[in-house]
Amino acid sequence: MTERQTQSLTLELINETAMLQFGNRIAVAISRGFEYALDNNPLVKVAEPALLIALQGDLGAGKTTLSRGLLIGLGHVGAVKSPTYTLVEPYDLAMGQVCHFDFYRLQDPEELEYMGFRDYLVESRLCLIEWPERGVGFLPEADILIEIVQLDEGRKVTLSGQSEQAKKIISQLDREKNGVNSAD
Ligand code: ADP
Ligand code: MG
Repeated sequence: MTERQTQSLTLELINETAMLQFGNRIAVAISRGFEYALDNNPLVKVAEPALLIALQGDLGAGKTTLSRGLLIGLGHVGAVKSPTYTLVEPYDLAMGQVCHFDFYRLQDPEELEYMGFRDYLVESRLCLIEWPERGVGFLPEADILIEIVQLDEGRKVTLSGQSEQAKKIISQLDREKNGVNSAD
């Protein structure tokens, strides 16, 4: 019964640095979740589809910036290119393959079939997707939806999710926001 409950978190991030730092914190919360799963059953994660994070917001909202903070937090060293033209940028990180997508230029969601999107979903541990609305019909429901709204100063960022993994990650970030430093 509680399964479909949505966990959400909203915060205001005043500038680009705050956005990058928040990406880092999401990375830490995700890594913690994966360690937990691996501890409990080393075989579980291998066959599971990727954790899906959808990033919604207008052009210039900060989707790529947040993705950059997240990828760096997961251990990526170097540049994070916007996948606007390539559609996907894969990263080989400690946790496994992480894919950063941008569907802005998708003409038709069917193109996802040609690019082998399903294989990416199965082979990756984590998929970050900018402009998920352009992939409707082919994209499974995201574990975590991140909505970014531009304010006069900074951005309002809202995370929401319903999967067990999503709820763990969001509540972890919520506890940090409230200054509670809990390890569980
Ligand atoms: P998108 O991928 O959504 O099109 P980008 O991540 O490329 O957007 O960011 C566009 C601009 O917004 C960049 O110049 C970046 O520095 C700025 N930006 C990102 N996050 C914030 C924030 N929290 N407050 C103010 N400016 C931000
Ligand atoms: Mg972008």
